[in-house]
Amino acid sequence: MRMLIDCGTLALHDRIERHRRVLIEDGVIRAIAAHLDAPADATVIDARAHIVLPGFIDIHVHGAVDADTMDATPEALLAMARFFAAHGVTGFLPTTMTAPREHIEAAIENVKQAMVQPPAPDAARVLGVHLEGPFINPKQCGAQPAEFMRPANPHEYRPWLESGAVKLITVAPEVDGAMRLIEDAQRFGVAVAIGHTDATYDQAQAAFAAGANQATHTFNAMRGLHHREPGALGAVMANDAVYGQLICDNVHVHPAAMNILHKCKGADRLAVITDAMEATGLGDGEFTLGAQRVFVWEGVARLEGGALAGSTLTMDAAFRNIIAATGCSLAEASRMCSATPARAVGLDDRKGRIAPGYDADIVILDADLRVVKTIVGGVSE
Ligand SMILES: [Zn+2]
Repeated sequence: MRMLIDCGTLALHDRIERHRRVLIEDGVIRAIAAHLDAPADATVIDARAHIVLPGFIDIHVHGAVDADTMDATPEALLAMARFFAAHGVTGFLPTTMTAPREHIEAAIENVKQAMVQPPAPDAARVLGVHLEGPFINPKQCGAQPAEFMRPANPHEYRPWLESGAVKLITVAPEVDGAMRLIEDAQRFGVAVAIGHTDATYDQAQAAFAAGANQATHTFNAMRGLHHREPGALGAVMANDAVYGQLICDNVHVHPAAMNILHKCKGADRLAVITDAMEATGLGDGEFTLGAQRVFVWEGVARLEGGALAGSTLTMDAAFRNIIAATGCSLAEASRMCSATPARAVGLDDRKGRIAPGYDADIVILDADLRVVKTIVGGVSE
């Protein structure tokens, strides 16, 4: 199966090029050049009026269209994958909530099965699971249920690290056992984010020294920056090696704060996420998040008590929002929505770039940055 994309504007890793052609064969990008003849059997996609970018990669997303990672069913993941693809996403990490052990394990097993399914033309790939909790701090619970938060016990988490499905785990380093988990995760190639944490600056820096490489939804559910106690947020901003996930919905984080984080981290350390939940794509109304009731009004999801309950953001909107907030270039925005999140979870060997040898995961946008077409593994609807 061959495909040739005739690109008006093409986002390469560090620059934008005009009038390039991309040849795809068996789901892999083979060649990029100004002049490439289309093989006789190739599908030709005319994107001369459009912008061609690496497909978006969302490493922190709970659900959409009434489906949630914690449903632990193939149908839920497929519904999510289809919705995300329509918004330019080609790969994602279904993200769990803090919950009893057996619920988390059902979700891990379900994701593991989904990872080996053949690619569907209209669905983003399931790249692994992000465990958000349960080893996090009730003082920074956000919409995570505090009653299930617990110390990190190797008997519980070792099988998760060994599963091969877990790519990222969010922990609060000050929780009992969390520092050992951070060290254990390194041996299994599992990335660790600090999040839902009341860690001080020193505790956060110790977690990074032990191997944690990122912060979950930077600014949200973490100790803020005070000039005499810079907190977890100060450590994230000061440590150049650390990735900062950012919910770019203009609600969880003010655009000015998005701009500040971009100035601190740059496009190679800022990872745009949605943190979207199951009401995403359904408009306003009343929904459930786990066992909790959630009210969505004008796209903002809140628990009964008023706490933000995840977003209803999509990656294409996040892409537009980060450009509006920071004035960054298309190439930078593209990196923050694809290559950088992929690298933050160790999936950048074949994902996140339009380059020979990389998976043919591509999104095509119009001049207003709206999704025209999503190509997953070299196939498009
Ligand atoms: Zn969270």
